Amino acid sequence: MVDLKGQYLKIKERVDASILEVVESSAFINGPEVHAFQKELEDYLGVKHVIPCANGTDALQIAMMGLGLEPGDEVITADFTFAATVEVIALLRLTPVLVDVDPVNFNIDIEAIKNAITPKTKAIVPVHLFGMAADMDAIMDLAKEHNLYVIEDNAQGIGSDYTSRNGQKIKTGGIGDVGTTSFFPSKNLGCYGDGGAIFTNDDGLAHTIRGIVNHGMYKRYHHDVVGVNSRLDSIQATVLRAKLPHLDSYNSARRDAARKYSKAFSTHEKIITPTICDSCDCHVFHQYTLRVKDTDRDALAAHLNAQGIPCGVYYPIPLHSQKAYADERYNEEDFPVTNQLAKDVISLPMHTELDDDQIDFITQTLIDFVNK
Ligand SMILES: *Cc1c(COP(=O)(O)O)cnc(C)c1O
Repeated sequence: MVDLKGQYLKIKERVDASILEVVESSAFINGPEVHAFQKELEDYLGVKHVIPCANGTDALQIAMMGLGLEPGDEVITADFTFAATVEVIALLRLTPVLVDVDPVNFNIDIEAIKNAITPKTKAIVPVHLFGMAADMDAIMDLAKEHNLYVIEDNAQGIGSDYTSRNGQKIKTGGIGDVGTTSFFPSKNLGCYGDGGAIFTNDDGLAHTIRGIVNHGMYKRYHHDVVGVNSRLDSIQATVLRAKLPHLDSYNSARRDAARKYSKAFSTHEKIITPTICDSCDCHVFHQYTLRVKDTDRDALAAHLNAQGIPCGVYYPIPLHSQKAYADERYNEEDFPVTNQLAKDVISLPMHTELDDDQIDFITQTLIDFVNK
């Protein structure tokens, strides 16, 4: 699905040298590399504050702790996403409210959010799924109208440019009250282990969060709030510093591969390709996910695997149907899109090192199976 080795070989010299420097400096935790990466990411994203942490799941949890959400508060998020999003809501004893998604961009459905808002709703968590920016103008409008926080789960969308209705381009993750990301190795900006970060333009919230990630300490050995221990280490930070200058070109390589896939599939009725915007870079293709009609998706996946083509099904089971998150509050008829997507989506190999021969082989194998 991803070719991390090929990508590494192209930046090997810098990465090897900087890892060695960290080892020799022995500044493994909270060293200058972490601070430098934080500043560079702030500049790249155009946000005032980046707070690095241990992984993308922690980032979501810490964001919610920082906003002071309390047990019983309702948090609306998408039914069609990775479980981390709903997991931290449940862990904090907040009430997850799962809603359906849009069939075209796979992101949280605006009408469904409207229908789910109650007097207890405190926050909306849009996920920029597969790297496609959610409809942030509409989400921010709703949040303003109902006085809700917006936490952007940008684990799959780093580098994506959202164009707001006034024409302004803004990086996802810096639009809501707080944004989060993951540097898991296969993410668009991945390190060589675990890592994550929280973004905000709010000085007060940034201060609160900096204490939370460090055991609730604002002054050494004074614990004002219950915090966590969540850090990005210096070796990961130095890898991220080596990769950040390439993020835009990595994302355009992904978009190029996506365009080639979509072009090959364009005349095939049973294959529904993801939307690609020609006028902006709102999609960074963390995944290239298509839908197949009148085709046994699982048999297709098995066939691709048998031909040596890795593929993935993200996500095969809607969150509202997962044992951990099922709840009598949910009705099947409220999730027609997610239920359908769980049956017909398939994600193809997507990374920065895909070449034309690979794309031709993948697309032809898929087309032959679907037309069989
Ligand atoms: C990867 C991911 C996370 C979690 O990130 P980790 O670093 O693995 O904890 C959260 N949300 C989404 C949408 C993700 O894709």
